[in-house]
Amino acid sequence: MDNPKKFLSDDIPAFFYKFDTEVPFTNCSLCDGKLSDYSKYAIEKVFKQNKILNTSEIVYEYAICWDCAQTSGSDISEDSKIAIMSLFVEHKNFISMRTDYLHANKMYNIESWIERCSLTGKEVRLCNEYAISAIIENDKLLYEHSPMVVSDEFMEKLQSVLSKETKDKFDGLRDKILDGSPSVEDLIFSPTPGVL
Ligand SMILES: [Zn+2]
Repeated sequence: MDNPKKFLSDDIPAFFYKFDTEVPFTNCSLCDGKLSDYSKYAIEKVFKQNKILNTSEIVYEYAICWDCAQTSGSDISEDSKIAIMSLFVEHKNFISMRTDYLHANKMYNIESWIERCSLTGKEVRLCNEYAISAIIENDKLLYEHSPMVVSDEFMEKLQSVLSKETKDKFDGLRDKILDGSPSVEDLIFSPTPGVL
């Protein structure tokens, strides 16, 4: 197979701009470092679905530099790491089947990548909440294993295998990223480990 497995868009699609200012992220939400100092950084946006109006509303979003992305999960317990890995392995066939299909058909538009959960296939319109993450490489959107969608269904599975200690650590990380923003108190989501 000579299908490409990696594609860089011409620019950053507006979908991955900051929601309130409609311009690209400039600083890391964890260390406040300039994202332009990195050849790679990650973005995550969490949405709530309004099933009556059939619209999604953004709950929170952040950008994280490559250094912070590499180190943010490094202090979680071995047991939790193994649990996260095995959950991903369990869903591996679906993930690779789907990305293979998207790459083979050169479907390099965000809509195709974010319409359903990358792990379970659940459509985002059927989710109460879902998270979308992406990697920006040299000011271009990277299509490789991401953009990736994590549905509420997969997040619940993940929560069920994590130790309380690990969940607390992810919650702490989320609080640090969001700086105690009160609108996120009722969220089931944490920064999605293993996605980056
Ligand atoms: Zn950082």
